[in-house]
Amino acid sequence: MILAENLSLTYKQENVHIKALSDISCHLEKGSSLAVIGPSGCGKSSLLFLMAGLNKPTIGKIMINGKEPDAANPDTALILQDYGLFPWKTVYENASLGLNIRGFNKKNQREIVIPILEKLGLAEFVNHFPTQLSGGQRQRVAIARSLALKPKLLLMDEPLSSLDALTRENLQKFILDVWVNNNLTLVLVTHSIEEAVFLGSKILVMSDRPGRVIDIIENPLVGSEGYRQSPEFHQICSKLRRLLGVIN
Ligand code: ADP
Ligand code: MG
Repeated sequence: MILAENLSLTYKQENVHIKALSDISCHLEKGSSLAVIGPSGCGKSSLLFLMAGLNKPTIGKIMINGKEPDAANPDTALILQDYGLFPWKTVYENASLGLNIRGFNKKNQREIVIPILEKLGLAEFVNHFPTQLSGGQRQRVAIARSLALKPKLLLMDEPLSSLDALTRENLQKFILDVWVNNNLTLVLVTHSIEEAVFLGSKILVMSDRPGRVIDIIENPLVGSEGYRQSPEFHQICSKLRRLLGVIN
């Protein structure tokens, strides 16, 4: 589904050049998930934007399903770090925004969006505004908006970073269910080691800027019952800590 070969990215602003990514190669099969982890500022969001077609690599090649990524492609959904909800729109209006833009009529919008909001536990909040919701609920509205478009590839940029620990674990489970039940390929940027191991069938570990690949770890037990409590889970967490130079 995703093939990245020797990607490098340099931002050029007037005389200043910032090298954000250096020689990144990775691939991801359809239906699997990739967690991208690395220190702040190492280029994780930049890599996600390349996958979304919002930017082009300076060097190298990236292909999604055999084509260059195109930001207008409805098969790819991107959830930004701050959720991208409009405060003046209700939960329902925010969730149906993508369908509205694509010209679906009101009846079709309702038929698609209401069941998704119900499934995501937001049925009683359809007429609420984002400020009336908790962080976890806002995140679910952003996910509802993406799922309404039935994407094949879901890209999430640090979706849970602003949430408290308990909400965060619940939503990790929730994202796992969304991934498994919707036949999605998932790329999730995170700076949490446990989150990467809980959600990534592969984990791409990045260095400090310019982001390079330190390692790509296979995580075949992802999604299995009780994984978070298992010795294998903790082994992979320890390995990531070592690779990222976290001392504990
Ligand atoms: P991360 O998501 O890992 O924190 P980013 O991909 O946001 O990292 O940024 C990587 C580096 O590129 C940072 O040094 C950042 O300041 C720089 N950068 C990001 N976007 C731009 C941009 N549009 N123009 C110039 N520099 C940028
Ligand atoms: Mg970022």
